[in-house]
Amino acid sequence: MSQVLFDYTRQDASGGSCTAHAWAKVPEPLSPSERTQWKERAAALLKQHGAVLVAHYYVDGDLQDLALETGGIVADSLEMARFGRDHAAKTLVVAGVRFMGESAKILSPDKRVLMPDLDATCSLDLGCPPDQFAAFCDAHPDRTVVVYANTSAAVKARADWMVTSSCALQIVNHLKERGEKILWAPDRHLGRYIQEQTGADMLAWHGECIVHDEFKGLELDLLRKDHPDAKVLVHPESPASVVAQADVVGSTTQILNAVLKSDAKTFIIATDNGLMHRMRQLAPGKTLLEAPTAGRSATCKSCAHCPWMAMNGLRGVVHALETGDGEIHVEEGIRAKAQGCIERMLDFTAKNAAALAQPAFVKNIGPA
Ligand code: SF4
Repeated sequence: MSQVLFDYTRQDASGGSCTAHAWAKVPEPLSPSERTQWKERAAALLKQHGAVLVAHYYVDGDLQDLALETGGIVADSLEMARFGRDHAAKTLVVAGVRFMGESAKILSPDKRVLMPDLDATCSLDLGCPPDQFAAFCDAHPDRTVVVYANTSAAVKARADWMVTSSCALQIVNHLKERGEKILWAPDRHLGRYIQEQTGADMLAWHGECIVHDEFKGLELDLLRKDHPDAKVLVHPESPASVVAQADVVGSTTQILNAVLKSDAKTFIIATDNGLMHRMRQLAPGKTLLEAPTAGRSATCKSCAHCPWMAMNGLRGVVHALETGDGEIHVEEGIRAKAQGCIERMLDFTAKNAAALAQPAFVKNIGPA
């Protein structure tokens, strides 16, 4: 697969890590009584505003619980987009990162979309500036443009298809069978994995998720030796050396389902450790180990947890609903253009639901 080299700056103006600003905005932990109070206040406000909470698996456990207790959802970005579009609520509170709020607004322009903190972004989004991406597309007009969900509305406005990790493999395969050549952006690891699995002709942008990029193949190999019966479940945003050791490669939902369906007792999970909250609730008898991010090349910008996801908290939900701060706006010209690539994905996934429920790659992990 050809790759275009692009790197966003990993340092801020003061020379600090690109994630320092996000970590500085992560809310202080709440005491048990404070958590109860803020949760009750947030639940009352959701009801008062006729709003629904749409939360990603990687956000704070209290927010995940609040979403489920108040008729909302905890899901991956594919299901978040679908749920927000189809729900009758006039206000969506999206707990996740900015591109998720933008996708909700793109699909539901008449709804008010609020987020706990509009500064919550994503290294993949930051690493794919719309003007440079547009020039990349202009240079390759013969290619079908496929972008990952983790991009800005302006980047989606240039795309033919949006995909998530739940459906990227199937959609690229579908395009390959139609004889189309693909321009892929922005995650280089996911792009490489999909190209290897499909054999499609892909020209790829060079971005990465700072969380998954830090999983270490060598240290994972050592951990597997300590736990020889453990099954290894890997998100495809991870490096090739980690994916190569996987029993299952899949999206967050597909990883969760693999744990629930397998008769194995121990799992090593290579994705953001926010997923552990829901996994522990649904699979209480299983041993869940985090894949290692440590080692000689570790930078620990993330330590397996996304700082931008961690910016979401109960107080942010309350503040957004009480003040209207954190409302997502997408310029109408961009929104209308971006809508097509998301709707195309949702139509495809609705028609291929059974195939998409399966992880992209499974070795024998028991009766999964
Ligand atoms: S976990 Fe990675 S892909 Fe997800 S929002 Fe954070 S930086 Fe982006």
